[in-house]
Amino acid sequence: MRYISTRGQAPALDFEGATLAGLAADGGLYVPESWPSFSRDEIAAMASLSYAETAVRVLAPFAAPNLDEVALRGLCEHAYGAFHHDAVTPLVQLDERHWLLELFHGPTLAFKDVALQLLGLLFERFLAPLDTHLTVIGATSGDTGSAAIEALAGRDKVDIFMLHPQGRVSDVQRCQMTTVLAPNVHNIAIQGDFDAAQAMVKAMFGDADFAGRFRLSAVNSINWARLAAQIVYYFYAAVRLGAPDRKVAFSVPTGNFGDVFAGYAAAQMGLPVERLIVATNVNDILHRALTNGDYSAGELVPTAAPSMDIQVSSNFERLLFDCYDRDGAALAQAMQGFDASRRLQLGENVRGRIGELFSSARIDSDAMSLAMRKAAEGSGTIIDPHTAIGLAAAQASDVPADIPLVTLATAHPAKFRDAVERATGARPMLPPHLSGLFDREERFDVLPGDLAAVKTYIAERATPAAQDRLS
Ligand SMILES: *Cc1c(COP(=O)(O)O)cnc(C)c1O
Repeated sequence: MRYISTRGQAPALDFEGATLAGLAADGGLYVPESWPSFSRDEIAAMASLSYAETAVRVLAPFAAPNLDEVALRGLCEHAYGAFHHDAVTPLVQLDERHWLLELFHGPTLAFKDVALQLLGLLFERFLAPLDTHLTVIGATSGDTGSAAIEALAGRDKVDIFMLHPQGRVSDVQRCQMTTVLAPNVHNIAIQGDFDAAQAMVKAMFGDADFAGRFRLSAVNSINWARLAAQIVYYFYAAVRLGAPDRKVAFSVPTGNFGDVFAGYAAAQMGLPVERLIVATNVNDILHRALTNGDYSAGELVPTAAPSMDIQVSSNFERLLFDCYDRDGAALAQAMQGFDASRRLQLGENVRGRIGELFSSARIDSDAMSLAMRKAAEGSGTIIDPHTAIGLAAAQASDVPADIPLVTLATAHPAKFRDAVERATGARPMLPPHLSGLFDREERFDVLPGDLAAVKTYIAERATPAAQDRLS
């Protein structure tokens, strides 16, 4: 499979190239040149497969020719063998038509592990024969940082520098990052807020000299390999609920539009998806875009579902690319307009195309708390704030009654136990593999919110890419 940029200017790359590059050089995002597709028989045959084997089937067309099935199988078995549930992503029935797809049984208790555990192994595998070294830099408000650190700790030829705003991530989130003591993991607590940390990361990527010297790379959901890994659980869940003979609908707690875009990809590949419900909190740019075409960034409102607190959803560009009939030049123009004015009005045609598969709902904090309480009282199920937003959106939808509705459970309730306790009165316990978390040794450095200081810190610790070491 070749990968092309949504903005039409960057060179096409193979799977390995797209994985290591992250963002395309023209500012666009990599997407497959065409959607692979599975026949009904091929989909039906997935019903008897383990999670890792389903991953091999779904990922094979994306990873060829860089990885054959044997190589993929080794990576998938390794990545998903580390999950704390035999089914990896179990389906749990709530009532006659509602299901939860639990995506939080990985090492850091959020769905990001499903993709990042595999991405860490892909990095290591692709870098092994190359004379180069990668430096992953990121800013995190919590979930991404811990999942990325857990995925890259101890891997060869990669260093990771993760910036978090000092004192503004939860204790669980901080300890999940800072108690990982592998020498290639560097935690930096920035004296500033998340936006300050993120602005510094962007500035470092924008400094061509610095970015080239250390071969900077990103692990957020602009990375295609992450999205590819997330397509797998849509197939895994749907075939267990009767696909391909029966359609299935999914409700997805959405921030950067990565997870729900993976559902769109599954539908393009032949999975009979009745509907994808984009569930947002009050940071509702996507809900406005889907209901009246108003894709405009507003003021960020911090909520109890922080991983959905976004102003701009990067991966929405991937959907727009298809809705613009893959016209990279036209989309580049639209996105440049958005970057300048922070708003984009979607035309009737584009909205019509999106509406064929997607609907949306905006769930405020009262409705979120109510959903947590009702799940606890109704079926005894404790859910986290992000999942609650997805479930509330599923319950409010007009999907036909005979279609199973699957809500993606994106975080373990213990990861957001204060909000869960406020809503339900119950304080969820950390699972056994994290029970000693607060007794473990922490390691991190505190730096001022000053770009020069952070760059110096990184330059002193990162390994330069190969070109530099030779010259
Ligand atoms: C990252 C995250 C989301 C949002 O996923 P996107 O792919 O950014 O839309 C939702 N819930 C949780 C718990 C997350 O960590």
